[in-house]
Amino acid sequence: MITVLRLGHRFERDKRISTHICLTARAFGADEVVFDVRDERVEDSVKRITDEWGGNFKVNFTENYKDFIKNFDGVRVHLTMYGLQVNDIIREISDKVSKRKNLLIIAGGQKVDAEVYFLTDYNVAIGNQPHSEVAALAVFLDKFFEGKETQKKFNGKIEVIPKAQGKEVLKKANI
Ligand code: SAM
Repeated sequence: MITVLRLGHRFERDKRISTHICLTARAFGADEVVFDVRDERVEDSVKRITDEWGGNFKVNFTENYKDFIKNFDGVRVHLTMYGLQVNDIIREISDKVSKRKNLLIIAGGQKVDAEVYFLTDYNVAIGNQPHSEVAALAVFLDKFFEGKETQKKFNGKIEVIPKAQGKEVLKKANI
């Protein structure tokens, strides 16, 4: 089970980027995203996409994210440019996840509370330059799955037929 904890969602500004966190988590092999701020607009748009495109991806909410991190039964990774380089640590993380089963990946938005840097097992950097939580999450999951996650089957009502030119979509139900 792979859970992404998305911290610091700002209701007025972050609807699109938090939706992208969810869609990226889903497409790249995570099972759920947990928010510390409830935003039904994000939940509804992710649910609509999951209904059509398949899979069991869930959006959930925690009232106390620090307790959520402390009580998480598995390996806890915080994505931050201040962490260890992903290429140096990804094998060790994968080995631990294969023993402990569950993986928590924390992605920030606005400034992450300093305590989070100590509540996790690993602070992991995708390069030590600042960029985006969506990019960091995608690259981390791609390295974790060694690129295989992009072949995952979702068994949705709609499926893309890959083409070099043009667009082809298979619709398996009335949508
Ligand atoms: N100072 C932040 C940091 O600690 O990475 C950058 C803030 S950035 C706007 C928001 C989120 O993107 C961060 O909380 C982190 O999860 C992710 N992020 C940005 N750059 C990253 C990097 N180089 N490596 C890993 N995660 C990164």
